Amino acid sequence: MTAPLSKYAIAVLPGDGIGREVMASALAVLEAVAPRIGRRFETVAHPAGAQHYLDTGVALPESTLQSCRDAHAILFGAMGLPHVLGADGTEIIPQLDIRFALDLYAGVRPIRSFAGLPSPLSHPEATTIDLVLVRENTEGLFYARGRGVMEGDSAALDTMKITRHGTERICDFAFKLAERRRAQGRLGHVTSVDKANVFQSMAFWRKIFEEQSRRHPTIGADSAYVDAMALNLVLKPWRYDVLVTENMFGDILSDLVAALVGGMGMAPSGDIGDQYGLFQPAHGTAPDIAGQGIANPTAMILSASMMLDWMAGKYDDEALADGARIIDAAVQDAFASQAVRPREFGGSSGTTDITQAVIDRVSAKNLVSA
Ligand code: ATP
Repeated sequence: MTAPLSKYAIAVLPGDGIGREVMASALAVLEAVAPRIGRRFETVAHPAGAQHYLDTGVALPESTLQSCRDAHAILFGAMGLPHVLGADGTEIIPQLDIRFALDLYAGVRPIRSFAGLPSPLSHPEATTIDLVLVRENTEGLFYARGRGVMEGDSAALDTMKITRHGTERICDFAFKLAERRRAQGRLGHVTSVDKANVFQSMAFWRKIFEEQSRRHPTIGADSAYVDAMALNLVLKPWRYDVLVTENMFGDILSDLVAALVGGMGMAPSGDIGDQYGLFQPAHGTAPDIAGQGIANPTAMILSASMMLDWMAGKYDDEALADGARIIDAAVQDAFASQAVRPREFGGSSGTTDITQAVIDRVSAKNLVSA
């Protein structure tokens, strides 16, 4: 066995809008956790995004993509601005190009409630929400991106693509995640979300999900239609553990599940492939609040924690998993102690307040010992 590295290269893509603001928070938290776990993070920022496209005509330079390939992990803010559009009228969103280029096929979106923060749901069990949405990132309806077909000016066609390979690997990912979660004391159950009653592509998805389920016999499994799932996720989200779904359904449901715990500022994510991992908040650039210092950095900070947890497995370095646990515990304590409350929850804490509250706790050795 080789000894763990002491220094890791992180490619940093701050992007646009609040992406840049919350990235500064995550980097400050990483800097605070590094000495606690005896590791160093060499974070280098690279250009990409809608503003970069306006400035240079290129949204995602090849040099940035190469730096992502060369790094141990990628930390991503948010990209895209509503007024910056490509020739086909869609937004400039290089994060989609990165997902395809690096084959980051699993969009992993954990959602949980935090003690000390009010829940948007009044049911007592709403305080126990703890689920992960796994979104297929490389095909599904998003396959149509850039391939839309116009029939004159009378119709537009976009195609949903579901492949055996793409569905097998995302379902396998979801089952393995459920196995890990069960080992940590959680339910260990996968629910596949589809629309198999209407679409051939989705019936094919369900068939493959069921095949994969038989390969993971210790993990409970069921399937649900996406419309019923939208209902149940609002009525009883605490019943779910791991959800797996195609790209477009995952895109929509990830905003819904974020709302269950207070909004986009609380929703971290990882885009993970067999080779690379990119970690970013589930939210976008939020132009409505950018530049005001009021963005909630929690989603970005928790994404940095997810990054450390993923790196711990990839580089076989338990100190990085300690780092992830320290950040998680610091975020939890910052809210549970009522030291800070984000504005979406009726509080007045800005980006800097929340970041500082987390850093104070990361540095306090009595919170979690590494
Ligand atoms: P995208 O399509 O790029 O994911 P979006 O159009 O879904 O982006 P967001 O940028 O995620 O939109 O913003 C949606 C709403 O959530 C906005 O009202 C925004 O202000 C709010 N929001 C997003 N992120 C945060 C955050 N970190 N803190 C506070 N509010 C946020």
